[in-house]
Amino acid sequence: MSDKNLQLSVAVKAVQQAAKLTQSVRKKLVMGHSIEKDDRSPVTIADFGAQAIILHHLFQAFPEIPAVGEEDAKLLRENQELLDLLMSFIKDLEPSLTPELVCDLIDRGNHSGGGKESFWALDPIDGTKGFLRNDQYAIALALIEAGKPSLGVLGCPELPRLDNEETGCLFAAAVGIPPRQIFNDSEATTHPLKISETRNPAEAIFCESVESGHSSHSASSNIAQFLGTASEPVRMDSQCKYAAVARGQADLYLRLPTRKGYEEKIWDHAAGAFLVEASGGKVTDIYGKTLDFSLGRTLKNNSGVVASNGAFHSDVINAIGKTFSVGV
Ligand code: AMP
Ligand code: MG
Repeated sequence: MSDKNLQLSVAVKAVQQAAKLTQSVRKKLVMGHSIEKDDRSPVTIADFGAQAIILHHLFQAFPEIPAVGEEDAKLLRENQELLDLLMSFIKDLEPSLTPELVCDLIDRGNHSGGGKESFWALDPIDGTKGFLRNDQYAIALALIEAGKPSLGVLGCPELPRLDNEETGCLFAAAVGIPPRQIFNDSEATTHPLKISETRNPAEAIFCESVESGHSSHSASSNIAQFLGTASEPVRMDSQCKYAAVARGQADLYLRLPTRKGYEEKIWDHAAGAFLVEASGGKVTDIYGKTLDFSLGRTLKNNSGVVASNGAFHSDVINAIGKTFSVGV
């Protein structure tokens, strides 16, 4: 097996194992429970559990590659009850993991990123608000080499398939390995991934965050109007939006900064952006600049994100320039 094939197969397996935990947390702690507004414990358990499981798989196979993960174990080390609850979800899935190992694994996601070393970038639960609302969320894992994503896996356990009624999709690609969708927890059922063929921005289907605090809805509406886009935006949590563009379901994903100075996190974009580009699309910031993953844990030289099928990307950047300024 080549390096990339092995990395991709370990990454896919890691995300599939983590998805079993997040879905079981969701069933037991989210569905049917009315969650108090500030009770974040279900998503906290799912976040910690997914990060521990994924890093366990990655470090076992590739001990030399560090990881940038969103979480650290501070809260877990201070809260025995939370740790016990977490272990009740982990023990059947990964029997070799002790509470100490789980905390240590989570804390090993503390790498600072950058442009020299290769590292994994992980968002164990992207779209935490969607997770708590019983909506979309994603488990996002990328490998970054010399400051550029070279592998991306997006687990989207609640995303409907396009070809039947079932939910649960996983998207995977790496340099030299064509992008594909994997269904039903196995690599046997795979479908190629391809962006849409829409050429006319007036016919574009665009998606954006559900949260108007994460991406300005009023600005996207102005941009759509400028482009003559007829349809309403599809609002979706998490990097499932990138998956929608990569599989040709949407033509455009807009992420328009709601305030000056917000730095997008690399784990919120690396896997999704890689998958869109691997499927033939284009991803830049709102000024048309390439996303720069070489600068640490954030995209500090970029502002917002535009991901598209590429056909009218420059029209979108032009429309943004004409109708939008950050922080207004
Ligand atoms: P989404 O599900 O697309 O709304 O994105 C979720 C991600 O938004 C989270 O993982 C956060 O890291 C990120 N986020 C938090 N605050 C902001 C903000 N002010 N602007 C953009 N993204 C944000
Ligand atoms: Mg996130």
